[in-house]
Amino acid sequence: MSEELILNRIESNREEYIEFFRELIKTKSYNPPGNEKNVALKIEEFLKKSNIKCDIFPFGDNRANLIAYLNDQFEGKNLLYNGHMDVVPPGNVDDWKYPPLSATIKRKKFIYGRGTADMKGGVAAMAIALKILKDLEIELSGNLIFNAVADEETGGKFGTGWCLENVLESIKCDFAIVGETSNYKPLSHAIVLGEKGRVQLKIITKGISGHASVPFLGKNAIYMMSDLMQNLDKLDDLMPKIKPPISLEKLKTLLRASFPNQESFERVYKEQPLLANVSKALTQFTKIVTMIKAGIKENVIPDHCEAIMDFRLLPGQTKEMVLDALRQLITDIGYEVKDEPTGHPDEYFFYLEVEGAGKPSYWSDWENSEDLKIFYDIVEKCYNKKPFYFLLPASADVSYLRNTNYCKNSIIFGPGVGTTAHSVDEYVEIEDFINAIKVYTLYAYNFLK
Ligand SMILES: [Zn+2]
Repeated sequence: MSEELILNRIESNREEYIEFFRELIKTKSYNPPGNEKNVALKIEEFLKKSNIKCDIFPFGDNRANLIAYLNDQFEGKNLLYNGHMDVVPPGNVDDWKYPPLSATIKRKKFIYGRGTADMKGGVAAMAIALKILKDLEIELSGNLIFNAVADEETGGKFGTGWCLENVLESIKCDFAIVGETSNYKPLSHAIVLGEKGRVQLKIITKGISGHASVPFLGKNAIYMMSDLMQNLDKLDDLMPKIKPPISLEKLKTLLRASFPNQESFERVYKEQPLLANVSKALTQFTKIVTMIKAGIKENVIPDHCEAIMDFRLLPGQTKEMVLDALRQLITDIGYEVKDEPTGHPDEYFFYLEVEGAGKPSYWSDWENSEDLKIFYDIVEKCYNKKPFYFLLPASADVSYLRNTNYCKNSIIFGPGVGTTAHSVDEYVEIEDFINAIKVYTLYAYNFLK
């Protein structure tokens, strides 16, 4: 009975929900610099109309985290919904067909704008789910906690990290959903059980400068970097051997769930390189050079070269493992690694600096969870399509929930196509957004009743 009540409520309030979502898109929160407080105030205004208790925790320059509660009881089951309010900057605004802050609706089907997929759609849908449960005054024995955070796009330390350490740690959590986009169109939605970690390193080679006409005299910093790049694959053997959380074969079996039959799965897997490439990335340690700069003049042997390398870790691998393996590799190819970036003009060496890092995480016993099965069924019912269990090649805030042992039972599920996140003309399908509201509300109702 209550389920029907919930679904009817969502259908009859569609326009109001879409407008609230658009309001969040129009509210600027590019990170850097952040300005997430603008979004937090809009959410508070929306939830206050239903007398929902909302705490805003401001920090820095116009930044904030927000935590809202369905009720003030925490002894029963607690369900946590987490979503980030910051979005990545739009890049060149002229490249956008529809301005990034416009929240333009097209053909009554799509909403365009920065953050539509990543992830103001998820944030709006979670806030709406909380409001629906409060407005309908459904008797529930547990509590729904909604945590809208800052700082996700720059590592999450001041967002989810801060909230866990300072507010949520005293509240036990039985299940958590992070509302990042998990729509793998043209496949169905994924329910994400783990993510890879990342380490971004700045690698500096210090060479010896000299006149380009007598190249035997100097030590070319670009050639030093090139030596490392050409040998980068040897890093795989220097990293401790770790099995992927889910093997490639098993991943394919999980993917297969969203296809009508084995044949169509095999065909799509073969024809769409994206699927095979993502699956491959999910089952191994990866590395890639993403930036490089060197040289000061046409006729000067460069004595300084900087490269950024991006490493993605499997659960069980750490930043320290990457640094150790890289130091070993540089030594193996005949160079010294120094602990400081400066040295005598006649010295040549490598220097490593960590630019950014995020830990991998994985919910290892997901297959034994009844709660997860219920979630799966609700997604299937709302989207009228079977979802599939999967992993994420990028890192996300959910790693804080798992790695601090706050809540191992954490998943990612949200509206929006993952490949449009961070891109120009980011968009979400309105129906996907509405269905996400249904999933979040029905699941909270089922979990807490
Ligand atoms: Zn995101």
